[in-house]
Amino acid sequence: MVNRRKFLKTSSLAGASFLAGSSYAGTNNHFSAPRLGNPIVISTWDFGIAANAAAWNVLKNNGRALDAVEKGVHVPEADPINQSVGLGGFPDRDGIVTLDACIMDELGNCGSVAALQNILHPISVARLVMEKTPHVMLVGDGALQFALQQGFKEVNLLTPQSEKDWKEWLKKSEYTPKINIENSFRPDKMPGNKFNHDTIGMLAIDAKGNLSGACTTSGMAFKMHGRVGDSPIIGAGLFVDNEIGAATSTGVGEEVIRNVGSFLVVELMRQGYAPEDACKEAVMRIIKKKPETAKAIQVGFLAINKQGKYGAYAIQKGFSFAVCDDANQELLIMGKSYY
Ligand code: ASP
Repeated sequence: MVNRRKFLKTSSLAGASFLAGSSYAGTNNHFSAPRLGNPIVISTWDFGIAANAAAWNVLKNNGRALDAVEKGVHVPEADPINQSVGLGGFPDRDGIVTLDACIMDELGNCGSVAALQNILHPISVARLVMEKTPHVMLVGDGALQFALQQGFKEVNLLTPQSEKDWKEWLKKSEYTPKINIENSFRPDKMPGNKFNHDTIGMLAIDAKGNLSGACTTSGMAFKMHGRVGDSPIIGAGLFVDNEIGAATSTGVGEEVIRNVGSFLVVELMRQGYAPEDACKEAVMRIIKKKPETAKAIQVGFLAINKQGKYGAYAIQKGFSFAVCDDANQELLIMGKSYY
């Protein structure tokens, strides 16, 4: 069961209403015509609504999908209230905010940064890794050095609130990834948002029918210093194949990496799976391999095919994603848990 909240394209989020039980599964046939002249952007979680609006400004002016996803994810990256992406993200267990991000274009080019500190927009550094280096991925100090060489300025990403939450966490220092862990901290600070959660993965098709994707996160709250999740790993947190479609993921990154999740979703779409069915099959692989682990975690996939049909699936209920095209701006929320 999926809940659907529609938003006026031109308005703020106020006045949203619920429509229950809509289905958003699309059929896939990659031999049918690609989506042309009718852009679309989709992204994970509630904060995808605001991010999509920024991406839409690029797409509606016939901009490139790559520019749209970069501009779109800048919004949560710069939002200090959001504690799972960029500025204000929860730090690691040593109190250091480290960011993971990747980006991929319609030509199969990709760039990525991992464990990057003190940079507001890791997605833009990832794009420059793609465009200005012979490499795909830079990590840690090397990624920071590159960012500074490219003109980025260092900023303190640890907000007073996230520092306070970290100090609270330190009292017990229990490191057990929990489902929707961020939700337990400050739901009051995210009006209208039940979940202050998680990675933003964004996928877009531009007017030319080209696909791109971006994925950016501060990673699991209070992770080990140096831990890198799925989000900056091409094929795990994000994959784009301009012939077939694109996919992205959120949730416990270790399980996504183990199953090369986003690549799997795209390959399943290549075999003819509808986007939602492909996401479901990827989730089922995780559940099948580790049923006991899967019970206690959240992993969600979001996918779009070349025709612009989209779908999602997650282990647990509560996974939401935002969709924006010429006709609609809406948020879809999974109301059903696998368990
Ligand atoms: N996938 C991210 C990670 O494992 C976190 C998340 O989406 O909740 O770092």
